[in-house]
Amino acid sequence: LATRDQQWADVQEDETHSSAALSWVSSANTADTDFPIQNLPFGVFQKDGTARIGIGIGDQILDLRWAYQKGMLSSLGGLAPLCAEATLKPLMEKGRAAARQVRRLAFQLLHAGSAQQERVRAGLVSMQEAEMMLPVEIGDFTDFYTSVHHARRGGKIARPSSPELFPNFKNLPIAYHGRASTVVPSGTLCRRPWGQFLTGSNDLSHMAPTQKLDFELEVGCYVGPGNHHGQPIALVDTPQHIFGVCLVNDWSARDIQRWESQPLGPFLSKSFMTSVSPWVVTLDALQPFQVPPADRGDDAPRLSPYLDSPEHRLKGGLDITLQVLLRTSRMREDGRDAAVVTETRYANQFWTSFQMLAHHSSNGCNLRTGDLLSSGTVSDSEQSRAGCLFELTWDGTTPIPLPNGEQLTYLSDGDEVVFRGRCSRDGYRSIGFGTCSGLVIPALSQYPGARA
Ligand code: MN
Repeated sequence: LATRDQQWADVQEDETHSSAALSWVSSANTADTDFPIQNLPFGVFQKDGTARIGIGIGDQILDLRWAYQKGMLSSLGGLAPLCAEATLKPLMEKGRAAARQVRRLAFQLLHAGSAQQERVRAGLVSMQEAEMMLPVEIGDFTDFYTSVHHARRGGKIARPSSPELFPNFKNLPIAYHGRASTVVPSGTLCRRPWGQFLTGSNDLSHMAPTQKLDFELEVGCYVGPGNHHGQPIALVDTPQHIFGVCLVNDWSARDIQRWESQPLGPFLSKSFMTSVSPWVVTLDALQPFQVPPADRGDDAPRLSPYLDSPEHRLKGGLDITLQVLLRTSRMREDGRDAAVVTETRYANQFWTSFQMLAHHSSNGCNLRTGDLLSSGTVSDSEQSRAGCLFELTWDGTTPIPLPNGEQLTYLSDGDEVVFRGRCSRDGYRSIGFGTCSGLVIPALSQYPGARA
């Protein structure tokens, strides 16, 4: 393991972060690509019926199984065969230093001065031709609630006569245990779920398709090496336990959620599906974009020591600009591009990904390789920069006008939701996350077993 200083400080910046670096893959050098050579995210894709690990570069994927078979990964020693697996799990287990070695070797193979350019070219697969899969089998999925703006505004909408925030919000990162089996890769269709909810007249609908389908714009992180049961992870050690970061759409049915959530929290209103962007951006790639966590405000209680460290105060935040784009079926028919419906910043979260991990393990709960921890909805102080329609439209009561005159409240069948994420900083090359998208399709026309 690296020393504690090295886990957080700038000493790890190397040639892979230099803004001057270019790739011989020309699409990686365009200004708007999410995947310049400074990023090099990991993913799993399918080609010829087999799943392989790949590294994203421009609009191409470097096939690591191919590179392994051609002997190009031999400098990785024992890590090399892990790159030929069908899932990222064995590599994630090896920790941050292993991911760094593979990323640095990919840099050597792909940078503009590489002597191996002609050989490596045969190992590129076009992203357009690859089917992206989940990077790892997700054992557990935990969804947090870490935006103070989301919590405040949500409280105002749902419980107008109560205090906006629950009293514990500023003391600990609140979460619920999500459902791992329905975490799916970007592009998977989202079928509108059936459920129980109260209708506008407060009558109980015993079973109907949700009328309030929503997205939640979130940032997820994958656990690399886990911890032993009973052994918490210190905040200062959390960077060693996070393999990388992705975008998450925690699809939500607000009417079902409102009816079922008291007293034990969300259940079926969330568990029908959660989409993730397939590219995992490593903490190494994100290093230039680590910033101090958001200001906690004057009224916040003192941080518990297990959620605070000098290093975290300097580097705990991740400065990611997030966008939601939406395309209705009419926009698609008319050949219109998706419209941006909100933009927000992950650095504004009240709690950071590192604090989530430290808190999650603080009772001795063991996290395991491939577990997914998500941030909860990322919202800003302004309503127009919230990360879900519940807030953006005040529970569907104030529609958002779309460029073609359509009015957006909750999601309609045929709507396509696309998330994007991007990191920018003066003196550094911008990197991005690719997309996390999903198209809403109609509910089952009849509930199974229902009598006609
Ligand atoms: Mn959520």
